[in-house]
Amino acid sequence: MQNQPSNIDLHVHTTASDGELDPARLVALAADSGVSTLAITDHDSMAGLAEAGRVSAERGLSLIAGVEVSSRWSNMDIHIVGLGVNTGDERFQGRLQSQMDRRWERARIMAQRLARLGYPGMLERAAEGAPQGIPARPHFAEALVQAGACKDRKQAFQRYLAQSKPAYVKTEWPEISEAVRWIREARGVAVLAHPGRYKLTRTKLERLICMFAESGGQALEVCVATHGPEMVRQLADLAVKYNLYASQGSDYHGPSMRWVQLGKMPPLPSTCRSVLELLPLEK
Ligand code: AMP
Ligand code: MN
Ligand code: MN
Ligand code: MN
Repeated sequence: MQNQPSNIDLHVHTTASDGELDPARLVALAADSGVSTLAITDHDSMAGLAEAGRVSAERGLSLIAGVEVSSRWSNMDIHIVGLGVNTGDERFQGRLQSQMDRRWERARIMAQRLARLGYPGMLERAAEGAPQGIPARPHFAEALVQAGACKDRKQAFQRYLAQSKPAYVKTEWPEISEAVRWIREARGVAVLAHPGRYKLTRTKLERLICMFAESGGQALEVCVATHGPEMVRQLADLAVKYNLYASQGSDYHGPSMRWVQLGKMPPLPSTCRSVLELLPLEK
C-alpha cells in the first residue's frame, strides 16, 4: 500500500461543490481520521469555509482556507488550488462569482445536450444532488445513473461527460496565469492540482509545470491519493528543478469513492519542501 495516513490533507471537497459530506461532517471525519491540518478546497467556491471553521475550532484542527480554481490550458481543464487565501477579499469573491456564473451557464447547456440525447430533466435531478452548490459534472453523472442511463458515474463520464464526449461543454475558464494571479492577489499560495491526472506525456507535463512556474505558481501537488510511486518521483524531481514547493492532498470527495480516504496519500519525498512553509498556520 503506497498511500499512508498523514496528519496533513490539503485538498478535500464538501457539499459546497461536488463533495458528499457537508463541511461540518467533513471536518469531524478529518479529525476522527487523525488529520490535524486541513485545507478545504471546493471547486470555485469558499462557501463551506465558515461552517468548517466553527467545527475545526471545536475539534482543535488547523483549517486552511482553500479553493480549487478551474482554469484552461492547451484545450484542457486544469485545476489550480489556492491555499491560505484571504476569505475577506471582495475582488477574489467577485472572481469566484464569475466562475459560478460560468458553471450555471455550462450546467444549462449540458442539460440541453443530455435532453437531445434522450435524457430530459437532468438539470433538476443534478441540482437535487447539489443543494448547497451548483450542479457539476459528478452531479450530472449521478443523475444519469439514477435515470438508468448508465451503470455508474464512471460510465456516465466515459459515455457523456468527459472531454470530447457528447454532453461535454467547453467552458471559457481563465488561463492558468490568470487563475494564479487571482489567488496570489488574494494572498494565497497557488498550487498546480494533481498534475498526474491530466494524462500528459513527460514533455507536455514539463511544459505545463514550466509555464505554471513562470506564471507565478508556487507549488506542485506531488502527493495525491491517485498518484503512483513513479509519478510522485517524477513530480518531486520537477518540483526541485523548477524551484517549486510540494503539496499533499487526498482530493477526497466522500465515502462513495472507497479508494480515496481522508488523510491518505503517498508520503512527501525527502527532496521536497512542504508548501506549509509558505503558510502561516493558525489554530
Ligand atoms: P466539473 O468541475 O463540473 O468540471 O467536474 C469535475 C469533477 O468531476 C472533478 O473534480 C472530479 O470530481 C469529477 N471527475 C472528473 N472526471 C471524472 C471521471 N472520469 N470519472 C469520475 N469523476 C470524474
Ligand atoms: Mn471534484
Ligand atoms: Mn481537481
Ligand atoms: Mn479536487
